[in-house]
Amino acid sequence: MPQSITFKQAQKTVDDWIKKFGVRYFSELTQLAQLTEEVGELARIISRTYGEQSFKKSDKKELSEELADVLFVLICLANQTGVDLTEAFTKNMAKKTKRDATRHKKNKKLQ
Ligand SMILES: [Mg+2]
Repeated sequence: MPQSITFKQAQKTVDDWIKKFGVRYFSELTQLAQLTEEVGELARIISRTYGEQSFKKSDKKELSEELADVLFVLICLANQTGVDLTEAFTKNMAKKTKRDATRHKKNKKLQ
């Protein structure tokens, strides 16, 4: 297991895995449904850990596993739609930084 992994490596790892074990990517619409399902599983854990809901005996409790499930489907969607996540993430962070340079610091609700 590598100490760190780049977005590029993660996209390649997922693509190799899909070709070897997945046969092909599910359609984009199926992936979106899968993403929704995985976000729901993540929400269940968050709700039961940080919200008022209690865990049932049968509930899985691995937050990291559910975050990774969401990440996997996001990477699948990026791969099959030609999105370079390194470029997209870099651009997105630059946009957020420009837009929100002082916004959150000025938000009294966050003080
Ligand atoms: Mg899951």
